[in-house]
Amino acid sequence: MRVLVVEDDASVADGILDGLAQANVDALHVSTGQGGLDALSSYQPDLVLLDLGLPDMDGTEVCRRIRAVSQTPIIVVSARDDEFDRVVALEMGADDYVVKPFSLEELIARVRAVLRRTRAAGEEGRRRLVFEDL
Ligand code: CA
Repeated sequence: MRVLVVEDDASVADGILDGLAQANVDALHVSTGQGGLDALSSYQPDLVLLDLGLPDMDGTEVCRRIRAVSQTPIIVVSARDDEFDRVVALEMGADDYVVKPFSLEELIARVRAVLRRTRAAGEEGRRRLVFEDL
């Protein structure tokens, strides 16, 4: 399992990376939206943890651009807890939304939950991908 962490706050990223390492999950950390978009193809993560307040573009825009090319699950991890921000992120294709400060245990549990859901729905998706490759 590989998780891409898009987060510009180093202390938050370190906490997430530690938690993922303890859960035996490989992770790559990038600190900009563009870095996240680049890593989507170079790292091919199973899931993306996405901050909204990024230095180069808003996380909702990153979410929209990922969804334009990929169904990789996205969990938004943000300090913004307005209903509006949650709705926009989910409408842009996020699979879940976690508000900072969060419990690391809960975040890891949500990562596993989203991966279970997407894997359960994955059979059909894989067939379609194979078809497209042909
Ligand atoms: Ca941020």
